Amino acid sequence: MSIKPKNSLLQVNNLKKYYPVYTGMFLKKKIGDVRAVDGISFEILNGETLGLVGESGCGKTTCGRSILQLDPPTSGSVIFQGKDITQLRKQELRAIRKKIQVIFQDPFGSLNPRMTARNIIGELLIIHGMTDNKTEYHEQTDHLFMSVGLDPAMADRYPHEFSGGQRQRIGIARALSVKPELIVCDEPVSALDVSIQAQIINLLQDLQERFQLTYLFIAHDLAVVRHLSDRVAVMYLGNIVEIADRAELYINPLHPYTKALFSAVPIPDPEIERTREHLLIFGEVGSPFHPPAGCKFHPRCPFAKSVCREEPPFPGKTIDDNHWVACHLIQ
Ligand code: SF4
Repeated sequence: MSIKPKNSLLQVNNLKKYYPVYTGMFLKKKIGDVRAVDGISFEILNGETLGLVGESGCGKTTCGRSILQLDPPTSGSVIFQGKDITQLRKQELRAIRKKIQVIFQDPFGSLNPRMTARNIIGELLIIHGMTDNKTEYHEQTDHLFMSVGLDPAMADRYPHEFSGGQRQRIGIARALSVKPELIVCDEPVSALDVSIQAQIINLLQDLQERFQLTYLFIAHDLAVVRHLSDRVAVMYLGNIVEIADRAELYINPLHPYTKALFSAVPIPDPEIERTREHLLIFGEVGSPFHPPAGCKFHPRCPFAKSVCREEPPFPGKTIDDNHWVACHLIQ
């Protein structure tokens, strides 16, 4: 991939995450791999939000988990502040983990039901030795509560005593507690009511400004991604097929899959909305166990040519500094 933004905080190079598939109960024999992430590369600039979009099962969450080293990659590198974190020993990785945090999709499932909100938020402060005594711990956790718009008087309640939106605020406060630089936001609003979604999105934007945070924002809701992201990467069946500035991608998508994906999202400018191309695609996303040969999108692509069935469209084409696409149509 050829997009080279300046001041890059994170670089992902040819990242792959394969899950082996075995047959037989006892004498297990490997019969192949599920290629959840199949060689992706991108960078994230300091202070920006990179949106990562695609249909369910395209590999976005696996990509986030591999970056976080929760699911170590099969191959490839993840360079954070100049260090390949896939090669670090446990102790070194612990120090990096403080700088890269995650906000999960399910604000209930991700919080320990037996811990109070204060201890959920404060747990990482203790693990990383960032608090000296009980008074300081209480002050720090109270402050974190207020940072995410919660009343510290509720700090000793348990997760089930909070609403969905409040629980997500607790998850955000926990991520913030160790002063991270990068936060992987994995569908952080998709489990919430629409009215609450807007509040959480505004909170994330506000915190980004206050604490100079960088986000990898994984989502399938393109309206949310458009609202939050500086740049957007589009994934299809384990590959990134297009990356561009948000405005450029929404107005001038080049990859047929991006065009189809964004056709359903209205653009507020009526002139652009009237003249832009709308593209419909049919069929299901292919299987990451038996992905189609050549361009993985070819069985659904209305523009597929014979070369598309035989050759993957990589390394793709750089249109300009802020736009890259992988499609045989774009030469
Ligand atoms: Fe369609 Fe071919 Fe482009 Fe793939 S490479 S998106 S099949 S035109």
